[in-house]
Amino acid sequence: MLRFVLLAILLLLIARAFWRVMDGVIEAAGGRSRRGRSPRAPAVKLVRDPVCGTYVAPANALSLTAGGTTHYFCSEDCRKKFRT
Ligand SMILES: [Zn+2]
Repeated sequence: MLRFVLLAILLLLIARAFWRVMDGVIEAAGGRSRRGRSPRAPAVKLVRDPVCGTYVAPANALSLTAGGTTHYFCSEDCRKKFRT
C-alpha cells in the first residue's frame, strides 16, 4: 500500500515539474511575440452588460437597441431586468 502512495506522489511531482517547464516555454514564446510589431490583438471587442457588469462578445450576446444605442446582455434575464 505504501508503495502505491509513494508512486502516486512521485508521479504528481513529475507532472508538476513537467507543467512548470511547459509554462516556461509558453511564457518564452509569448514574450517573443509580445515584442513583435503586431501583437495578436483580441479579434472581438468585448462589451459590458449594463445589468450585471459581465463582459460579453457582441456576436454571442443578446442585444437591445434603445434610444439609438445598442446594449448587450449576457442572458435573457439581464435583458429583461434592463427593460423593466
Ligand atoms: Zn448579465
